[in-house]
Amino acid sequence: MTFRDLNLNTPIYNALDDLGFETPTPIQKEAFNVVASGRDMVGIAQTGTGKTFAYMLPILRHLKYSRQDNPRVLVIVPTRELVVQVAEEIEKLSRYINNRVLGVYGGTNINTQKQAVAQGLDIIVATPGRLYDLAMSRVLQLKSIQKLVIDEVDVMLDLGFKHQLMNIFDILPERRQNIMFSATMTKDVDSLIQGFFITPQKIQIAVSGTPLENINQQRYNVPNFYTKVNLLQDLLKIRDLHSKVLIFVGYKSMADLLYEKLEEFFPGECCVIHSNKTQNYRLKSIEQFSVGAHRMLVATDVMARGLDIDDISHVINFDTPEYPENYMHRIGRTGRAEKEGHAILLSTEKEQEARKRIESLMQFKIPLAEIPEYIEISTELIDEERPKQKERHNPIKRTSNGKEGQSIHEKKAKNKKVNLGGSYKREIAKKYKKPKTRGDKSSNKRKNRRK
Ligand code: AMP
Repeated sequence: MTFRDLNLNTPIYNALDDLGFETPTPIQKEAFNVVASGRDMVGIAQTGTGKTFAYMLPILRHLKYSRQDNPRVLVIVPTRELVVQVAEEIEKLSRYINNRVLGVYGGTNINTQKQAVAQGLDIIVATPGRLYDLAMSRVLQLKSIQKLVIDEVDVMLDLGFKHQLMNIFDILPERRQNIMFSATMTKDVDSLIQGFFITPQKIQIAVSGTPLENINQQRYNVPNFYTKVNLLQDLLKIRDLHSKVLIFVGYKSMADLLYEKLEEFFPGECCVIHSNKTQNYRLKSIEQFSVGAHRMLVATDVMARGLDIDDISHVINFDTPEYPENYMHRIGRTGRAEKEGHAILLSTEKEQEARKRIESLMQFKIPLAEIPEYIEISTELIDEERPKQKERHNPIKRTSNGKEGQSIHEKKAKNKKVNLGGSYKREIAKKYKKPKTRGDKSSNKRKNRRK
């Protein structure tokens, strides 16, 4: 299949020819018709798969020439680097199309960007914070947005941009197409999709369930976090075997805690990356691990995604990933270039279901190793492992389906009231009829004067 088999047009074909691109990548093939159809879409794809063109090709194909100044396509990305990169990709594809593309991000002079916005545009690429500030200043009008693309949603949520995104959703027109890309599936991503997308079509380039042949896999059943730490400290004592160890954990606080515990035992041999660390700190950690100055790197899935590091001797799954694809991504970091790699999976009782899902994706049972007898089994629990306290006195009882249950007594009249906002405003609105716009207001006044 070539790009000629997709329903593109001459300006786009010419741009693709200039770039020397002939064949669409798998995600481009899969996404084209879905994006073109106008349906909401969720694509699971990593950087480097051609995902930017996957959404831009169909969008540009159907974006008509317009003289209006307000942008019609909004692309939100988590970092300024990505703003620049995505805007460049769009420019490349738009070489023979008469459209206006602008990238905006924080940390730079907002006034320059306001001036650029005021010139009029078709496509805006932005980080969430700066986008919101521009919209609030009223220079940027988002009322004409027809297509919303959110790229690298997993990183965005991991960086804590959820509320910023919600605020932006609030000021966008309701009738719009939502397109979202994420490299990893996480619970946060899933809940965003459930909350804001309308029966989205999911597109996923199947992650190979066949691990590289030269990865030796092993697993341990371990009751809790601190026992996992004890086992890990014991394994990592054998330094020449565990020469470059990438340790995955599910979330930031666990990454910090584990890093602390490993540092106690192996001072100066360990580093950590997650989204609360500054970019400088992350780059330094990765560099030190990469050149072998540090033997161990603790990382969360989202942050470890773009890592390209050679000669990793072991990938340790300190927790068992919920989504089996994440396990495949994790262990794929070792055993490359025909070297033998090792992958170790640690699972608590609660994590057994996730472990089974991984095994069924691979159609392979990971051999179980016994914890050596001398490893201390800890009884100390971290917050997440403690049983949740039930609220004994909360009057709002929840039923098993999570909804508020019926109260036994009839509510008193004053408690039955529904909160409609301030009474003064309502009275005034009733009296003078609520103005819909400022224009209305003055016409109301005029009418009143005439009376
Ligand atoms: P992305 O995953 O969007 O970051 O794209 C990765 C790189 O692949 C970019 O430099 C694109 O210009 C390039 N690329 C995108 N689509 C194609 C294609 N069909 N053939 C060759 N290269 C491509």
